[in-house]
Amino acid sequence: MDKIEYFDQKVETASRDEMAMLQFQKLEILLKKVYTSNPFYRNKFKNLGITPSEIRSIDDLHKLPFTTKREFEEDQEKHPPFGTNLTEPLENYVQYHQTSGSTGKPIKFLDTKESWEWRGRVACYVLKGAGVKRGDRILFPFNFGPYTAFWVIYEGAYQLGILIIPTGGWNSLQRLECIIENKATVIPTTPTYALGLADTANEHQINIANSSVRILMLSGEPGALISGIKEKLQRLWNARCFDYIGLTEVGTWGFQCTEEPKGVHILESEFIAEIVAPETGMPIKEGEVGELILTNLGRSCMPAVRYRTGDLVKVKKGFCGCGRTFRILEGGVLGRKDEMIIIKGVNLFPNVLTNIVESHILPGDNYQIEVYKERGVDEIAIKLEMKEEGRREGIQRTIRDEIKRRLNLRVEVKIVPMGTLPKFDYKAKRFIDRRKEGHV
Ligand SMILES: [Zn+2]
Repeated sequence: MDKIEYFDQKVETASRDEMAMLQFQKLEILLKKVYTSNPFYRNKFKNLGITPSEIRSIDDLHKLPFTTKREFEEDQEKHPPFGTNLTEPLENYVQYHQTSGSTGKPIKFLDTKESWEWRGRVACYVLKGAGVKRGDRILFPFNFGPYTAFWVIYEGAYQLGILIIPTGGWNSLQRLECIIENKATVIPTTPTYALGLADTANEHQINIANSSVRILMLSGEPGALISGIKEKLQRLWNARCFDYIGLTEVGTWGFQCTEEPKGVHILESEFIAEIVAPETGMPIKEGEVGELILTNLGRSCMPAVRYRTGDLVKVKKGFCGCGRTFRILEGGVLGRKDEMIIIKGVNLFPNVLTNIVESHILPGDNYQIEVYKERGVDEIAIKLEMKEEGRREGIQRTIRDEIKRRLNLRVEVKIVPMGTLPKFDYKAKRFIDRRKEGHV
């Protein structure tokens, strides 16, 4: 086992009491600033008749109201373009990002120099957690658009002194050639794009398993931890996969370390995490699944206090072998509150199904999963495009049997001609619930 390298050992291995104290010190400063000069939060707190002086410890946090995505959206609609969640004069802000808007109008987020440096420091914890070290070469296989996920890793890599290789608007083949030629060792990407790169490598007889790449930093799609996709990526790339999790609204809050392949550490020195029952907002019992609520502590310029992430998580008991005392979420984000579906009375996150299918297919194959109703009964159909004809027979049965065994669901697996299904570059939409579209 390699020696564990920390970004800030004192903080990462602090006792739980020390951590609570550190969080409270940061929270106190944040609330004072925000109450004095952030119109969005000052109004929110005033409406409840609460002042920062009433928050005397972390345990008082529940006295503050939750913040929802809808509130941020409404605030920017009413006060365009940036809303009122701004603590500093507009000219202090130096970075612009926005959410993808997949569930509404995109929300804009601004950072000051100070908060941007904080976001970079957050990424330093993430990179160190994955075992990235000086001498590594990190290659970014995407365009630098307005979404934050890779930008923060870029800033973190820069702060750590890692050689950064951007590949802008290049195509997958150019990027692969760049990886090989420059001996890149670390690649931040979405799981879908990492699979896509593997497909392209396969087409062009580029042996990525023998390449210098040793770490894939995965983000943007939940459930890479659940196994199928991750195991497949590790095999195809002969590299270790690490998830890091963030939301534009709060920042990058979770990361995987080298010692716990099935969990994600909450970056508790920079975020206060609460886990509540999604329906009531009340704390849940230890070990139960609940919604993650986050307060970021290093971004007072445009903060998120008790932000309802909509992500469902479960805390794992005990401490991690890496020595960090940050709590671990078992399986990372299990799914989104609004994505959980019920099929034939079974509660299910779609990514569990996609992971099972993914673990059985090869580069060049493609698939889509559909849920629909037939004569009032829920049905699941998996459509598969298979490159090699010889594998078709066996795979239908294998996938059907595994889903039956693991989820007790009966599904139909259909082979469809190549080119029938949509292709995806960065984020895959493989799951379609036709029951919601009125196809009855
Ligand atoms: Zn750990």
